[in-house]
Amino acid sequence: MKLNILELKKKSEVTFKGKQQVSLKGISGIRKMQVCEADVEGNLQKVDNLYLVEGHVSVTVRRLCDRCGEEFDCFVEGELFQEYSALPVGEEQEDIIQISDTIDLEDAVTEAIYLNLPMHWVHDEDCKGICKVCGQNLNLKQCNCGHEEIDPRLEGLKNIFHPQSEE
Ligand SMILES: [Zn+2]
Ligand SMILES: [Zn+2]
Repeated sequence: MKLNILELKKKSEVTFKGKQQVSLKGISGIRKMQVCEADVEGNLQKVDNLYLVEGHVSVTVRRLCDRCGEEFDCFVEGELFQEYSALPVGEEQEDIIQISDTIDLEDAVTEAIYLNLPMHWVHDEDCKGICKVCGQNLNLKQCNCGHEEIDPRLEGLKNIFHPQSEE
């Protein structure tokens, strides 16, 4: 999405709403939709010599559950905040992006999403994950590996009830 600062000559504030493509390459587990389309809305104002963009960003990211490996859609949202300057930017102003007369929101939107990506991606709070022994997806079917701690004294009994020859 691009905003033209010349629009601020006519009014004190410009509101915007639209879509911005963001690349989420490099995040492990995001397989298919490395390029996502984010919904962006906000406003642009001139504050002294700076152009200030504030708004809200949201995107649905398709990726793999950390526990069970199933694909799922994860909704991510964040606040958009970026200052721009049409004047040369000094070293002490490293957070300010220098522009000519057009603001390209791609970097600011991408950053807002990166900052709000979850630490853990779980498709459901109750996801049971994968059995570490046999690899069965435990959301679909229980396996017979026995995930309870078994008293070693009863280990022998277990084998009587579940003889190896059954497998
Ligand atoms: Zn899961
Ligand atoms: Zn198992």
